[in-house]
Amino acid sequence: SDFAVLCCGGGNAAQVATGLFAVRYNTIAVSFFADEAAKWKAALGEDEFELTLPGGGVMKSKPKDITNDPSVAKDADVILLVVPSFAHGEYFEKFAPHMKPGTIVATMPARSGGDILFASKLGDKAKDMIFCGFETLPWACRFTEWGKKATVLGTKNNILAAVSPVSATKKALSKLQGLLGVNPFVEESPNNLGISLRNPGMCIHPGVMYGRWGPESWDGQAKDEAPLFYQGVDDFTEKVLTSMTDEVQSICRKMEEVAPGLNMKDACTLKQWYLDCYDGQMKDTSSLKACMNTNAAYDGLKHPCKEVEGKFMPDLKYRYLSEDIPTGLCFAKGLAEILELSTPQIDKANSSGIKTWQDMSVCLSEECRTLSTIFSRKSGNMCTVVLQGCETARACNNA
Ligand code: NAD
Repeated sequence: SDFAVLCCGGGNAAQVATGLFAVRYNTIAVSFFADEAAKWKAALGEDEFELTLPGGGVMKSKPKDITNDPSVAKDADVILLVVPSFAHGEYFEKFAPHMKPGTIVATMPARSGGDILFASKLGDKAKDMIFCGFETLPWACRFTEWGKKATVLGTKNNILAAVSPVSATKKALSKLQGLLGVNPFVEESPNNLGISLRNPGMCIHPGVMYGRWGPESWDGQAKDEAPLFYQGVDDFTEKVLTSMTDEVQSICRKMEEVAPGLNMKDACTLKQWYLDCYDGQMKDTSSLKACMNTNAAYDGLKHPCKEVEGKFMPDLKYRYLSEDIPTGLCFAKGLAEILELSTPQIDKANSSGIKTWQDMSVCLSEECRTLSTIFSRKSGNMCTVVLQGCETARACNNA
């Protein structure tokens, strides 16, 4: 097929996506990260990429090229970003001068405000392009031999995707569905604001970490073992999470009020999100805590920790904070500020705990040293919020 796809990134997810798309489509892998593209190209050499599927089947394919040259965007019909959100801006920026009108650019997964970031990086060209935000990555996957072999551990049945402009939804989603194959089923979501505020990680990850390591429940001492993340959710953490998700709901209701006709149905509560996404995998769905404690997909997952003299301290540089706060929770907080809504639990989960929580947020750039700095800033528009969030996430990652 001469339908041309760029698959961006070089981590677990990007390698899997490249292997999958290259079976049927003219696919070029692009990574701007250091010398990753050259390394990957050398690792693969003359071989085909080998992708093992959940049933044990193996697919072999070869990307047309693996490069760090942004000008390949000139022939692309679809550009898929399969990298952590801190890298999205760089891809948008570097591709922008080369892209042809009508190019579909999708982030997989999107984080909050992906459409706003895209519009701001593309400038005048944005109106000729189609942006699609996927709520999540459809695969749980790992490479088994870097650059050469990877395994898909599981594929989701459905994933939501929102298209900006909405008028391009049919065109974009049919192309993307073709790329992904039969599973997952790509389900149309009304708008990218819904995807942004649905973002479950922005509440779950910082909320559960606050519940375990925040000043209200932790004495600051290292623990003998890394605590269980989901199975360790207790009544206190459940309360934190419920308050956070309720605050996000109040943002949704206010948005519906100020923008009549706006459909926020996909920006649901955390409990509803569990029911939507993990149906049949939870033994007990009577409460949010039960959903998290009894979800088979979460069995044994622990808090991200650092070992200190044989004991465990929380890893505050891990994605759960360094990605989910700046490109997740900050979006919700920024929008709440614009709407003049208070979000006491979101603020608390991120700005209290001077001794333990905040002092250790060293991953944050100097400017945004404490999370409360971002949160108390009187943001005037979402573009500023999104751009600052992305910069912070990037700085965290590079720290
Ligand atoms: P990964 O950690 O393997 O991705 C690493 C890649 O990110 C690198 O290979 C590089 O391409 C890029 N990168 C790293 N540092 C960079 C920097 N400083 N500048 C520019 N680029 C840089 O992650 P992954 O497993 O491929 O996941 C990608 C996204 O999908 C993440 O947002 C993750 O949360 C999400 N996700 C992954 C899975 C999974 O099963 N792997 C499941 C659900 C969601």
